Amino acid sequence: PNSASSDEHSRIRVVVRVRPPIQEDYDHSFEAYEECVNVIPHTGDNPSKFLTLTRSHTDERDFMFDLVLGSDIQQSSMYGVVAEDIVNDVLQGFNGTVMAYGQTGTGKTHTIFGDIGNFQGINASGRVDSVSAKAGVIPRAVQQIFDHIEQNQEETEFQVTLSYTQLYKENIYDLLDEDRSGKILHLRESSRTGVYVDGLTALAVTSGTHLLDIVSVASKRRVMAGTSMNQLSSRSHVIMFITVEQRPKQTDPMAPDPVRRGVLAIVDLAGSERVSKTMSEGSRLDEAKKINQSLSALGNCVAALSSGSGHVPLRDSKLTRLLTDSLGGNTKTVICATVGPAECNYDETYSTLLFASRCMNV
Ligand code: ADP
Ligand code: MG
Repeated sequence: PNSASSDEHSRIRVVVRVRPPIQEDYDHSFEAYEECVNVIPHTGDNPSKFLTLTRSHTDERDFMFDLVLGSDIQQSSMYGVVAEDIVNDVLQGFNGTVMAYGQTGTGKTHTIFGDIGNFQGINASGRVDSVSAKAGVIPRAVQQIFDHIEQNQEETEFQVTLSYTQLYKENIYDLLDEDRSGKILHLRESSRTGVYVDGLTALAVTSGTHLLDIVSVASKRRVMAGTSMNQLSSRSHVIMFITVEQRPKQTDPMAPDPVRRGVLAIVDLAGSERVSKTMSEGSRLDEAKKINQSLSALGNCVAALSSGSGHVPLRDSKLTRLLTDSLGGNTKTVICATVGPAECNYDETYSTLLFASRCMNV
């Protein structure tokens, strides 16, 4: 690693992605559509960093982020500016984290997963030859990792392992647990390994397609009794860890520890919408409170890390504890805050932009 980038390793990048309008935004009145759009990325500057939020064409608020992606941005370009550098770092032995934050329906899952099941060709070694245009961060990262492995496997031995968890109401579940027991796992801490999830499956994967096959099967386990997939997926955090370990096949006996290990964490956060907007009674209320707590703990940690000073309150929630090694230390992190374009979501959009601004800590 070159020293010039060491400062950047603790810096958290904040990207805002604006979803194109979809039917729901029209609020059942088609002609209101033009009126409805109220999130305006500034064009002309490249890369784009500015965005204006308006209400009824007045009340303009300007925001600045590391990057603003307009609704015309394709998945492949998104990947290039959001995640590619981070995956490169993981391949150099650093930790890297890609997170999507935002209101339900604004494109978190589209950004993180997109279309994971549709590969347009698998070559003889099981490498993902190309992914579909709709593919999000996960399939593209997997493709990048296994391309790198294929190109370097003569000199280097690689091992890739996958863990896949869901955090629902502050309970940790193992999505790779095949018996679907819904067993709750616990966080433990040791001085040797740091914070870890006791009993979490870490599966050795042999190829990109192997990994993506497992993920598409495991993603269906997000369905739990009495809750629809959509509902639950928006009310839980989903966290994937892809660990890449490598050692040179020919070791120099004088060299220090030749093993390099990088962990890529990819996080599809629960919807950030406020309690009042979700049906707030009984267990739904409890659910919403826990989501708000964990997201605000995340915001506090990111703000502390961005400012580079003071205490980082990683212990304040299961989410941030689980991400201890994926937020602190030498980790390179990007948060992709997703927003819808519609005025009817003004309050939620504003609150997402405020969260993202806090993460910038400028
Ligand atoms: P979330 O995970 O934040 O709840 P989704 O990713 O499920 O939101 O997106 C909601 C809907 O909007 C889906 O139908 C998705 O395909 C669509 N969508 C989201 N972002 C985009 C985008 N950038 N381009 C096209 N369609 C999108
Ligand atoms: Mg989603």
